[in-house]
Amino acid sequence: MDFRPTDEQTLLRRTVREFAETEIRPHVRDWDHDQHFPDDLIPKLAALGLLGIQFPEQYGGAAMSAIDYCICIEELARVDPGVALSVAAHNGLCASHIFLFGHEEQKQRFLVPLARGEKLGAWGLTESSSGSDAAGMRTTAVRAGACWVINGSKAFITHGRDGDTMVVMAVTDRAAGTRGISAFIVEQGTPGMSPGRKEDKLGMRASDTSEVIFENCRVPADQLLGDEGQGFVETMQVLDAGRIGIAALAVGLAQGAYEAALGYARERKAFGKTIASFQAIQWKLADAATKIEAARLLTYRAAYLKERGARTTLQSSMAKLYASEIAVKVADDCVQIHGGYGFVKDYPAEKYFRDVKLTTIGEGTSEIQRLVIARQLLSR
Ligand SMILES: Cc1cc2nc3c(=O)[nH]c(=O)nc-3n(C[C@H](O)[C@H](O)[C@H](O)COP(=O)(O)OP(=O)(O)OC[C@H]3O[C@@H](n4cnc5c(N)ncnc54)[C@H](O)[C@@H]3O)c2cc1C
Repeated sequence: MDFRPTDEQTLLRRTVREFAETEIRPHVRDWDHDQHFPDDLIPKLAALGLLGIQFPEQYGGAAMSAIDYCICIEELARVDPGVALSVAAHNGLCASHIFLFGHEEQKQRFLVPLARGEKLGAWGLTESSSGSDAAGMRTTAVRAGACWVINGSKAFITHGRDGDTMVVMAVTDRAAGTRGISAFIVEQGTPGMSPGRKEDKLGMRASDTSEVIFENCRVPADQLLGDEGQGFVETMQVLDAGRIGIAALAVGLAQGAYEAALGYARERKAFGKTIASFQAIQWKLADAATKIEAARLLTYRAAYLKERGARTTLQSSMAKLYASEIAVKVADDCVQIHGGYGFVKDYPAEKYFRDVKLTTIGEGTSEIQRLVIARQLLSR
C-alpha cells in the first residue's frame, strides 16, 4: 500500500488548482448570484481534458485514472462546487453510461464529442414523483417501427437546459418492474424533447438544473443504450462510479471551507488575540482536517478498487455517505468560525454552507446510501 501521490498526480492537482483559482475563483460570486451557467468555461475545461477525464484516448478522453478523476473533481469543488457538479454529472453519469454500456458505433458518435468537450452531457433518471424510488418512474418508451416514442418528463436534471446529449431512462415493459426499464440516448433538438422549468436553487447555482419534457419524442431504435430492459440495472452500476465523484466533490468542498476557516481564524482578533489561539476554534479546525483526511481515504479507496475492475457498491456508498456528511459539518463550522461574517456574502463561508447540502441528496440521499450499505452488509 502506498499512500503517496505519484509525481503526475501532484502535477495534476497543481494544474487543476491553478486553473480553478485563475479561471473560476474571480467569477464565483457572480455566477452564484445570477444563477449563471458558465458556457464559456466549457472549452477551457475541455482543453485540460476535464470533460473526458477517464475515457480512453480512442474515445476522445484524457485516459486518466479513477483517482486522478477524484483529484480533478476535488480541486474544482474546492473553488466552486457548482462547476464541479456540472463536470461530475457530464463525466460520471452521461458519458460514463455511454462508455460502460454503449456499442462501438454509439461510443464513436456520442461519447467522442462528449469526451472532447464539444458537447455537454445530461442524465435523466429522476422524475417529479420518483427520486429515491427511481424505478417508480412514469416516463415510457414504446417501440414504433424503427423508432422508440418517449413520453413523460424528468426532474432536477443537471444540464437539462444547457446539455446537448442526454441519457434518459424510460419504462419499456411495466410488468417487468426493474427489468422493464431501458436507457436511450436523446440529442437536444430532437422534436418532442424540450427543456422545462429551470430550478431556482439554494446552492450549486452555477450548475444548470432543469426539467426535461418528452412529448411523442421519436428516437431512432439504434439509440437504445445497453440492453432493452436492463436500463435500471445498468443505472445502478453507473451510480456506483458516479457516487465516488460526489464523494470527491464533498471532500473538495470541505477542503475549501476548511481553508477559508483556517485563514479567517488566523486573521480575526477577539479579546486581544487571534481567534485561532482559542482552543474551541482549534478543536473545530482539528476535527475538520481529520474528517477530511478520513473522507479522502475512503473516496480514494473506492476509486482504487474501481480502477482494478472491482464492483464498488459498498465502498462507493460508504465514501459518498461519509464524505457528504462530514462536508456538511465542516461547512457549518466554517460559518461558525466566521461569526457574523459567515452569514454574509463578502466571505465564501455562506456559499459552501448552501452548496454542501446537495452532496447529501444528489445521486442518492444519505438515507438511501445507508440502505445500500446495510443491504450489502446483510447479504454477506
Ligand atoms: C442540484 C440537483 C441536481 C440533480 N441532478 C440530477 C441529474 O442530473 N439527474 C437525475 O436523474 N437526478 C438528479 N437530481 C435528483 C436527485 O438525484 C434526487 O433529488 C435524489 O435522488 C432524491 O430524490 P427526491 O428528490 O425525489 O427525494 P425523495 O426520494 O422524495 O426523498 C425525500 C426524503 O425521503 C427519504 N427517503 C425516500 N425513500 C426512503 C427510504 N426507502 N428509506 C428512508 N428514507 C427514504 C429521502 O432520503 C429524503 O430524505 C438532482 C438533484 C438536485 C437537487
